[in-house]
Amino acid sequence: KLGNATAKAELGRAAWKLLHTIMSRFPDKPSDDERTALQSYIHLFTRLYPCGECAEHFRVIVEKFPPQVSSRSAAAAWACHVHNEVNVSLKKEVFDCSNIGDFYDCGCADDEKAAMG
Ligand code: FAD
Repeated sequence: KLGNATAKAELGRAAWKLLHTIMSRFPDKPSDDERTALQSYIHLFTRLYPCGECAEHFRVIVEKFPPQVSSRSAAAAWACHVHNEVNVSLKKEVFDCSNIGDFYDCGCADDEKAAMG
């Protein structure tokens, strides 16, 4: 069994990876329904994140920096920023958010081809 700190760090890496990858695939011009979906996703992510101490800490950050869901770039920049807020509080290096563009690749480039049959 992993030690507590190791398990918490692995969960964190997996969670950040999923969150940033979702942002990288969010539409440039989302519909109202898509904006509402992302807003709800972030709200529930914050509420249900399994590390209680982390969730409580993150809730305070998200209250201070409300989710941006108006476009892909706004959403990606928001997630990068709040992750940096966590990085600072854990005394980690700050990530350069201008590099976020191609960093998160879901490997889904074939999706459109697949949809076309
Ligand atoms: P991580 O911070 O997990 O980052 C993974 C990778 O993402 C990095 O290697 C880098 O390539 C990239 N990255 C780094 N910064 C950014 C950024 N700003 N934007 C985009 N990509 C970036 N741990 C605690 O001990 N206490 C807490 O209170 C706590 N709260 C957390 C709250 C949330 C919502 C989440 C998801 C995690 C939390 N964690 C917390 C875990 C912590 O953030 C790290 O995930 C964990 O410590 C592992 O860190 P890491 O150095 O491997 O890199």
